[in-house]
Amino acid sequence: MTDIPKDHPRYESLIAREKIVEGIKMGITSQQGLVAQGRGESFDYLLGEKTTRSAAIAERAAVAHILLAENPVLSVNGNTAALVPESLVALADISGATLEVNLFHRTASRVHKITQLLKSHGAGKVLGGKAEKRLDLSHDRAIVDHEGIFSADVVLVPLEDGDRCQKLMEMGKTVITIDLNPLSRTSLSATISIVDNVTRALQNMIEFTKDMKAEKEEKLLSIIEEYNNNMILSDTLYNIEEKLKSDAKSRGI
Ligand code: ATP
Repeated sequence: MTDIPKDHPRYESLIAREKIVEGIKMGITSQQGLVAQGRGESFDYLLGEKTTRSAAIAERAAVAHILLAENPVLSVNGNTAALVPESLVALADISGATLEVNLFHRTASRVHKITQLLKSHGAGKVLGGKAEKRLDLSHDRAIVDHEGIFSADVVLVPLEDGDRCQKLMEMGKTVITIDLNPLSRTSLSATISIVDNVTRALQNMIEFTKDMKAEKEEKLLSIIEEYNNNMILSDTLYNIEEKLKSDAKSRGI
């Protein structure tokens, strides 16, 4: 990995790029993953590269869903495996969710390597390697494990594509997405759209889980009842608009 000086103003973002490049070299991330990261970065820039208040509300509601679920599953793709393997394992561990590898550019070797990477970070069960069910979709993200995504009641799908998000919604599941683009088909169709960088979102969700684990069921249910996803998306767009206006003003544009 290239040595990035810690005092570089865009340190976090440069480290993330290095991790994706490393993921490609290790054979866990596809080359297309670089493009997805680039699209995410541009939205992160518009958000000020920080967790907005609305993203934190969405993260808290997402944790309430995961804690109340019977079979919560965290879907892992090549980008998330490269960026946040330890956070995925920690969130699964603390929340009781199951990890499942699910890839658009799927090969048995990539699934195996991601599974091994998660295990090297302490993961117990990792599904996906023997996935045998197929959702009604023409690409390989359709391949899911019967015990995992297929029968899950709550699924966290970070950096998802819109088709599968919609398909999982049609199956009656609670779908939580992490996607920096508030206007992607994924963000517009999920139950809970977390518009935040996956690197920050998972860290926040781990902290929320620690705090909320001991809460009574009624409290978690009330968090879910009060949550309004359209309002969260609209708040996010408002934040972007305000940030752009204030940046322009401060530069005399
Ligand atoms: P959709 O089908 O939902 O419209 P898409 O075709 O725009 O999605 P994909 O290329 O399938 O998107 O997935 C990449 C998505 O992940 C993009 O919307 C991008 O903003 C988002 N993304 C990329 N990197 C990150 C990251 N580090 N954290 C959060 N979101 C990210």
